[in-house]
Formats: sequence, C-alpha cells, structure tokens
Amino acid sequence: MKETVTFSKDAANLFFHILTGCNLRCRHCYINPDQHGTQTLPIKTIEAWLEVFARRSHSANVIFLGGEPTLHPDLPQAVQTARNLGYRSITIDTNGYLFHDILDKLSPQDIDYFSFSLDGATAAVNDRIRGDGAFRQCTDGIRDAVSRGFHTSLIFTVSRDNIHELPLMPSFLEELGIERFFIQVLGLRGQSAGVARKDRRVSRAEWLESVHGTAEAAVDLGIVTVYPKVFLDLDEPFECAGRVADNYFVFPNGRVYRCPLCEDHPVHSLRIEEHQLFPTEPINEKDLFALDIPEGCVMNKLIQPDNLAYNDQGDPEYKIACCLLKEELRPK
Ligand code: SF4
Ligand code: SF4
Repeated sequence: MKETVTFSKDAANLFFHILTGCNLRCRHCYINPDQHGTQTLPIKTIEAWLEVFARRSHSANVIFLGGEPTLHPDLPQAVQTARNLGYRSITIDTNGYLFHDILDKLSPQDIDYFSFSLDGATAAVNDRIRGDGAFRQCTDGIRDAVSRGFHTSLIFTVSRDNIHELPLMPSFLEELGIERFFIQVLGLRGQSAGVARKDRRVSRAEWLESVHGTAEAAVDLGIVTVYPKVFLDLDEPFECAGRVADNYFVFPNGRVYRCPLCEDHPVHSLRIEEHQLFPTEPINEKDLFALDIPEGCVMNKLIQPDNLAYNDQGDPEYKIACCLLKEELRPK
C-alpha cells in the first residue's frame, strides 16, 4: 500500500538537538556550529524546553538529535520527562555508537524507536562517508538494540557516493531486523553545502530510477519505507510545511526553525529565551514560506537552484516538493 504523507497537520513534531557535539565527522553532516551553537544543554534546560513545546502542541512527537544525542549523559532522564509530559512518541536518532550504555538505561517501553544512520550496505562505502569503523559500530548497535526488543528504524542519505548500494539495502535491513526505512536525499546544508559536496547530489533521473524500486523491494520484505517526493510534476499540488504544519527544529543556542532548509541562516522564526518561546522579527523564514513561485519550494530555489530545469520559454519543467513531504509505503 502506498500513501503520500502530507506533513501531518494534526500532529506536531519536535526535532530537538540537545547538543551539537559528535564523535564522527560525516562528509554530509548538516550541523553548523556557527549557526547552531556548540553547547550541550543541561538536563534542566532540556526538561524546561520539553515543557514549552508540550504546552504549545498537544501530543507532539519528539525526536532527540545531536550531534550524537547519546553523548548526552542525561538522555535517559530527558526521555522519561518527555514520556511524563505526554509526548505522543519518542525517537532517538543515533549514529549507532550508543554511548553511556544507553541500551542498559532504557527499556523498549520507554521509547518508540531508535533510528540509526547508515549510508551504505558495506563498510567500504559507508565508512568513506561516515568514517572508519562506523559501519561496524552501527550494525553492532542495531543488532544489540534489536536483540533487546527495541523498535528500530534506519536513515540512508542518498548521494553519488552510495546510490549504487541502495538496492542492496532491503535484504540487509531485513537481516538486521530494521522495521522502518527512511531514504533521504542529500541536502545542501552544513558540510554538504561546501563546493566539494555539491556535485554529490544525485540527478532527478538517478533519483527516480533507484529510489522507488528500492522502496518497493523493502516493503515486499515487510519494512515500512518512507522517502521524500523531491520532484513534483507541474500539475501536482504543492504545499509548504512552513505554512501548514507544526514542526519545530530546535538548536542548543535557542534558535527554533520551522524549515530544515533554513538552518544554515539566521532566519529562524522563533527563539527560546529564558525558557519561553518568542517569535523573531521579520524578515525571517515565515516571509519566505508566504511566497508562491512556479518552482515550488522557495528555499530550494535560493540555496540549491541547480536541481531545477527550465524549458526554452523559461518555464520550470517540474516543481521541487517540500522536503518534509514524504511517500510512505507499507506492507499489505
Ligand atoms: S551527520 Fe550525525 S553522526 Fe555524522 S557527524 Fe553529523 S551529527 Fe555526527
Ligand atoms: S522545504 Fe521549502 S516548502 Fe518545505 S517548509 Fe521549507 S521552504 Fe517550505
């Protein structure tokens, strides 16, 4: 069964970066310390901010992120606090190193998912992107989590460096015991915004050729698979999540964005000060969300116009979808 997941308008998502430190140096890391800060938030601050968003949005989903969130020694306490505050679901995104014996300190009842990041079906490909030893650590971490009964998902960021291994992933994920597969497109943020990384993005043809087939293969093996639409035909509807959805991308320096493509720039529409949420002055990302352009996503046109194409009359050949708009394939 296939369904396009409109960024659920009845649910809120809190993407909570509780620190920006990480033990890895992935080539495509989107963390930008100049824009996001370098602090590790104290647990009291994490709990206060969780309260801020629990009050603002009923029954939100929280995703703990970093950097590497398991480097935070108080992550288990943050998870318990989120549970007590009534968050609808709790996910920890991890590179798989699972610091501070996190699997010993949480039970499968405490969190909904551990979400692992792996960018290849082999150590050779993954470790070229994520660093020596990362494949082994991540797959060991997945096996350990699965054997203890945790639900697990996996994020694979597609680039020219690994698209050839995408078709190998479904059977590998089945073997690992992964339940949900998120295929991501390489975004031009943080490290990957550098000139050397720009040519690592896959073309429209490459994306369309590989991604859907791999998603179908994963679903046939019983794995729920989610991937961004990225390219829309001109007659398909376009919507900007910044206008209609309730997403918060929160960083340790108190910046709160509604759109992840804006995160390299000081255009956040909200900020946290003294444990309260305030709107920021215009001009900010909200002013961009309000613009209607034939190419679809405004931020895409501003920061990654190379993935657009025009006909001889100067009209776009397709639109770029909101990066938060996903297709979800579920096993029948
Ligand atoms: S992408 Fe994630 S795991 Fe890799 S360096 Fe950045 S924060 Fe760390
Ligand atoms: S990615 Fe584009 S369409 Fe989506 S919220 Fe950001 S600006 Fe809006």
